[in-house]
Amino acid sequence: MSAEWFFKLKEYDSLSKMRINHLKAIKEQQARLESLNIKRQKKQDEVAELKSELHSLQQKYYESEKKMKSCEEQASRLKDIGGSEEKINAYIKEASVIENGLFEQLERTDGIHIELEEAKVFLKGLEKSFTEIEGEVKEEIQKHTLENSQVEMRMKLIMEELPDDFRRILESTLKKNLAVGPFTRLNNGSCFFCHWKISRVDESEIDMQRQLKICPQCSRIFLPYGS
Ligand SMILES: [Zn+2]
Repeated sequence: MSAEWFFKLKEYDSLSKMRINHLKAIKEQQARLESLNIKRQKKQDEVAELKSELHSLQQKYYESEKKMKSCEEQASRLKDIGGSEEKINAYIKEASVIENGLFEQLERTDGIHIELEEAKVFLKGLEKSFTEIEGEVKEEIQKHTLENSQVEMRMKLIMEELPDDFRRILESTLKKNLAVGPFTRLNNGSCFFCHWKISRVDESEIDMQRQLKICPQCSRIFLPYGS
């Protein structure tokens, strides 16, 4: 009779591994979209920064142009009234320095427009892969969620079917989250995992009488020989 329960214990364990894999797969799918989202956000931030730079450049350009014009006007006014050559030259020089600055600003403005255009193309491509990947991701998540709910239902059923002693021991062993799972076997009279020596009496109760026992050291459940 107990052979059947040991079999169910093992099934429960393999179902819980399947469950871990489904949840992991769901997380991986979500991460695919997340990484695209991060890329998109980064590019959108860059675009916002470029636009704000463009705006202040335009402001600066407008002011510099006004200043340059006023220098030129001053120079020509002084010329008309026969003002000092030195002052006229100073205004002309200032206007020319400002003009050079205007060229630089224009160059940067062109550069920004190119970068904005590139960003637009990049974002458009990103939207396309978003649409493609979103469909795939949705499908995969749906598939794993459905399969996982079947696995969980089966786990719940097994838990309900198990006799009290099996259920109690399985529950308390699962809580310990042991590496490689909650089961062990006898190996030359010792626990396969932690090598704890088992008494002859226990050994016969586990393997011959198929009694439910846990390792006193690592708390894994002993599966009898042949189960
Ligand atoms: Zn052990």
